[in-house]
Amino acid sequence: MGIFSVLVFVCCCYCSFGWREEDQPVQTFVIPHSHMDVGWVYTIQESMHAYAANVYSSVTEELSKVKERRFIAVEQEFFRLWWDTVASDLQKKQVQQLVNDGRLEFILGGQVMHDEAVTDLEDQILQMTEGHGFLYQTFGVRPQFSWHVDPFGASATTPVLFALAGFNAHLISRIDYDLKDAMQRNKKLQFVWRGSPSLAAQQEIFTHTMDQFSYCTPSHLPFSNSSGFYWNGVALFPNPPKDGVYPNMSVPVTKETIDAYAKTMVENIKQRAAWFRTNHVLWPWGCDKQFYNSSVQFRNMDPLMKYINQKSKEFGVTVQYATLSQYFQAVHQANLTWDVRGSRDFLPYSTEPHQAWTGFYASRNVLKGLARRASSQLRAAEILFTRYRVNYPDGPVAKEWALDKLRALRWAVSEVQHHDGITGTESPKVADMYVQHLMQGMMGVQELQAALFLLPHDLGDPENFHGADVDQPLEQHVIIYNPLAWNITTVVNLTVKLAGAAVFDDEGQPVPAQIQRSAQSNVSYDLFVVVKLGGLQHRKYLIRFSGKSAHTYEGKTVVFERRRVKDWTRTGRLRLPVLNQCYKLMFDQETNLLHSITHLYSPTKRRVRMTQDFWEYLANGDVNAGPISDNYIFSANGSAVRAYQAVEMQIIPGQIVTEIRQYFYRGENDSDYAYFITTVVPEFSSLPCHRLQQTYSLGPLQLNTEVVLRTSTSLKNNKTLYTDDNGFQMMKRTYRKFQNNTLARNYFPMVRTASIKDELSGLVLLSDRAHGVSSQANGQLEVMLHRRLWNNQPWNLGYNLTLNDSSVVRPSLWMLLGSVNATSRLHQREAVELQHRPIVMPIDNPRKPWQEKTSCGSPVHPVVFPPNLHLLSLSVLGWNYSSNHSIHLSHILSGKGAPPEPDYDRVLLRIMHLYEEGEDPELSKPVTINIKEVLRGMGEVMILEERSLTGTWENASLKRWKWKTANDHEKKKESHQGHKDFILTISPKEIRTFFVHFSSRNLA
Ligand SMILES: [Zn+2]
Repeated sequence: MGIFSVLVFVCCCYCSFGWREEDQPVQTFVIPHSHMDVGWVYTIQESMHAYAANVYSSVTEELSKVKERRFIAVEQEFFRLWWDTVASDLQKKQVQQLVNDGRLEFILGGQVMHDEAVTDLEDQILQMTEGHGFLYQTFGVRPQFSWHVDPFGASATTPVLFALAGFNAHLISRIDYDLKDAMQRNKKLQFVWRGSPSLAAQQEIFTHTMDQFSYCTPSHLPFSNSSGFYWNGVALFPNPPKDGVYPNMSVPVTKETIDAYAKTMVENIKQRAAWFRTNHVLWPWGCDKQFYNSSVQFRNMDPLMKYINQKSKEFGVTVQYATLSQYFQAVHQANLTWDVRGSRDFLPYSTEPHQAWTGFYASRNVLKGLARRASSQLRAAEILFTRYRVNYPDGPVAKEWALDKLRALRWAVSEVQHHDGITGTESPKVADMYVQHLMQGMMGVQELQAALFLLPHDLGDPENFHGADVDQPLEQHVIIYNPLAWNITTVVNLTVKLAGAAVFDDEGQPVPAQIQRSAQSNVSYDLFVVVKLGGLQHRKYLIRFSGKSAHTYEGKTVVFERRRVKDWTRTGRLRLPVLNQCYKLMFDQETNLLHSITHLYSPTKRRVRMTQDFWEYLANGDVNAGPISDNYIFSANGSAVRAYQAVEMQIIPGQIVTEIRQYFYRGENDSDYAYFITTVVPEFSSLPCHRLQQTYSLGPLQLNTEVVLRTSTSLKNNKTLYTDDNGFQMMKRTYRKFQNNTLARNYFPMVRTASIKDELSGLVLLSDRAHGVSSQANGQLEVMLHRRLWNNQPWNLGYNLTLNDSSVVRPSLWMLLGSVNATSRLHQREAVELQHRPIVMPIDNPRKPWQEKTSCGSPVHPVVFPPNLHLLSLSVLGWNYSSNHSIHLSHILSGKGAPPEPDYDRVLLRIMHLYEEGEDPELSKPVTINIKEVLRGMGEVMILEERSLTGTWENASLKRWKWKTANDHEKKKESHQGHKDFILTISPKEIRTFFVHFSSRNLA
């Protein structure tokens, strides 16, 4: 039916113009490109040296020689490194000219081509903002098309963000092999995608799915042993060859070979033309690490294209060098009516029946956790610096120094979002590189935070701040800072070295606390402190270690001896309750496992049977014995097996929290445990009682095991689960049966949230880093926490991609259980609160002024947003382009470029509505706020301009292309875009971006 209707439609369309499709030669857009992974097998430095710098040097030279030649530049990190450290003045001039002429086109424009499965939307936006800011400042251009050719599966968040960034079309490639096959046959590779159910047509985008050849030129030539159209061969590491002769260079185009080349190319073009509705073929010319020797590339392709065009009648094909925008313009001008795709994504992703790319959701857990922590720290520091700039424009913290620290961490957090970065699919040395860049950036930002907190009263040299452990004898000061624009009451766990402690706030009032022996160390103690902070506020706390305090409860450990666990012992006859205002948790004394949780806080009380424990998938390491698991692929070799024989338990009942510690032993008599769960149940009355905080410890794992935390419940979810796309929206995941590999193909990425539910209750897990999740049995939710693998596949071994990860990992999950309504109201905010937990900064040797009540810095007024709005970003970007495009352009065209001084007064503000339409009766409503009012605690807002997502464009003048769809009449009227007198209304799932100027005040 699909094919038939399409054919009829195409025929009608063309017949009405009096000519037939077949009469026209296929118009082919040959798009030269180089896929440059910002990481993967080689470090960035190695890549720059071996090929990446040569790509831009040689492309600049070759494009400048012949005006028909084109190139698209994609990953900004390499381009910027080249621009800043390699390019000569002449090359910079040439690039400027090529960009102005549209011969060199920046596509996508992010620092990297970010992964779509395991990245958080806040980081996706960050890395795009970073790249777009550079491009706009330097060239006055904004990228308008995407080129997501390599991320492993496609998320429904991406089309939304790209629409918000002002893109006219989106391009993806890696989707399930069987689905792509069907779409190809039915000419359905192109469609209009409405990625968000709430935003729908408001942020829809035309999407092109690459055909089966994907982003590389066909790699086989029938007349030669060499591969494809790669005349410059393959990049050589570590050094480029001195004689310019690279391995595997294709036979040159000569009189003898030109006809064979032409026929091969034409045949391929015609094969592809049959899969698309218009008469245009996108023919990507390039692949990984190509065009480092552009001269030989173009020298061969120029005559070949000329030859084909001379015989275009005979071949039925014309060819031209093109940028991506030229291709999309042609398709757009065809003015066809396109199918609409709703908010479904393309995750997970399989390349073959036994190749499910669901392993990487859990590869390199430590890197995934670090990347998220770094991002959260960056956001907190950005807000802090913004506040400082507004209040102390002439304050003693040097703004250049501060911006450098922020920029270094922006760069590191952007870089790791690469699709071979946070995914964990890189070689060990590249993983080490990301970690090093992140750690360096975080240290710099900690220095900055220390400087900002201690000033203006204490002008201590930030370089001399030690950020030491909380282990000062007798007295210790800490600053606790809430980076959220909501008031919070929460519990902060400080690790201390002494057993008795009293905590006081900055007004000298005692603060409720609890102290007990640390879960994982014999020499330290966990001090749980109840903190109450306004939005974006910080407070100073004093800890006195001398003696006891009436306000500090001393937790005493109750030990439950080791129990051997067998299925038949799970009788639940001897149960031990742990109670708070929201829950009654029952632990089974015969197994030391969780037995059930009754949720008490919803209108409907209900007891849900629930067990949590660890299971292992045993991976195959021998390619000759069957499918293997590696960095990318999860290929279960049978069902999971229970990973322990015995469990020990400790319970520390308390007044602030009750803590349950469960130690899982692989062997009944082992001396060391293999897995560990600690569950913190809030007891203090002002704490949110629904939040059960769990932390796990596992590793080093045995080789070829993939470990899951399995939560088995009595919920009747029919193996359906819900997982989030990038923390932006929840996707329903219905269990699907496949001929092969059903287990692995039912694994999904969890960035922040996974949940299961039945009619009465929902169970939600929130995460501080990405994992793989699945529901393999009714009522079950399993989270893959860690993997350690090795296999003998030559490709894996050659690139060191077997994932022999011997680290110990300590991820956290927050668990919510309640009525379906209660959990669907809570989980968005809880996920954000987990992401942006309070920042704790110990202060060494607090100096005099800090001891006085009057000196807790400036009055820090709270900034509080409505509960359904999240302050996504508040940051002094430092880019110095004019907000007025014509003025900025005239600066650039005058040859002077943008002024060198960063703009410290323009603040980027981003606000997100957290709820979907209809998700909650109250919280899903549009919210109207007065920006002047909500930001008053920060300063006086004078100017507010609405901008595109990455800040580079005035929102009102974006004018994205419209693409016709069958149900155009269903398009909603434009929502409440724009604002008047600082008053704006934000609708469900909207992300709104502004430039804000505050009136200058100087409190210093
Ligand atoms: Zn790649």
